[in-house]
Amino acid sequence: MWTQDYDLHSHSTNSDGEHSVDYVAELMAGNAVKNWSLTDHDTISGWKDAYAAAEKLGINFIPGVEITCECGLSAQEDELELRNRDRASKSWHLLAYFPNLDPNDQRYSAFAEWLKPLQNNRIPRMEKMIAKLTELGMPVKFSEVASKAGGSIGRPHLAEVMVEKGYVESKTEAFELWIGDGLPAHVIQPKPSIREAVEMVKKCGGITSLAHPIYYGIPPAKLVDYCLENGVDSIEAFHRSHPDDYRYQLWQYCKEKSMSVSCGSDFHGESYGQTPGSMAIPIAELCF
Ligand SMILES: [Zn+2]
Ligand SMILES: [Zn+2]
Repeated sequence: MWTQDYDLHSHSTNSDGEHSVDYVAELMAGNAVKNWSLTDHDTISGWKDAYAAAEKLGINFIPGVEITCECGLSAQEDELELRNRDRASKSWHLLAYFPNLDPNDQRYSAFAEWLKPLQNNRIPRMEKMIAKLTELGMPVKFSEVASKAGGSIGRPHLAEVMVEKGYVESKTEAFELWIGDGLPAHVIQPKPSIREAVEMVKKCGGITSLAHPIYYGIPPAKLVDYCLENGVDSIEAFHRSHPDDYRYQLWQYCKEKSMSVSCGSDFHGESYGQTPGSMAIPIAELCF
């Protein structure tokens, strides 16, 4: 039995999505999603609005978050090539869900406290990068970068301003010369390991699923083993960006090892040509 009632991965203006929580909820309901999770990056600030919006629309809201973690394993060139990917992502994303968490539960605030430094780190980090650039003779104002960012501020926004000011020819050049990992104007963002994040989510009564595994350049069998060893409950095998053959292979490995799967559109906004919902997933292997 398959279902299309779930979309367990979406973003709002609380992180880098382009729409309000209310509007995302409306699109979900309009696309026949009955169980929806909002999974903004490193923040749960959209949960309150999401509960209210879902109730109004008569759909079920599952509180979620997408936690930015350190990479679990090093990417393999052959796997990246096989999947037609230029490079592996610089961090692994762990989805966490709290289907049974009462907002009055103490574990709710414990989890919110734990997330805070991860989420609040973006602004001080940007300020430090701006200070470094200014020292290097490329003055930039924080407000200029902030005006490029809809929700959470990040390096792409800084790169945009650097191009506008003529410091670099392109955003790529900004990353390759100045703000890429380990370069003169780069500031490291502290991230939990997958295991640390898993432990914290479990302690707070939640479950986890490894997001968009195709981005990491790890062969499916190895990835499933890694998740099992580190206590990850599920894998987002049914992610919108997965081609059929990858999704199928990964799903089969998950089945072999009794690892559950999750599905998500990773909806960020209509201007990206994305739509939420219509994610078919086998009910028997769904993470909850
Ligand atoms: Zn992600
Ligand atoms: Zn996402």
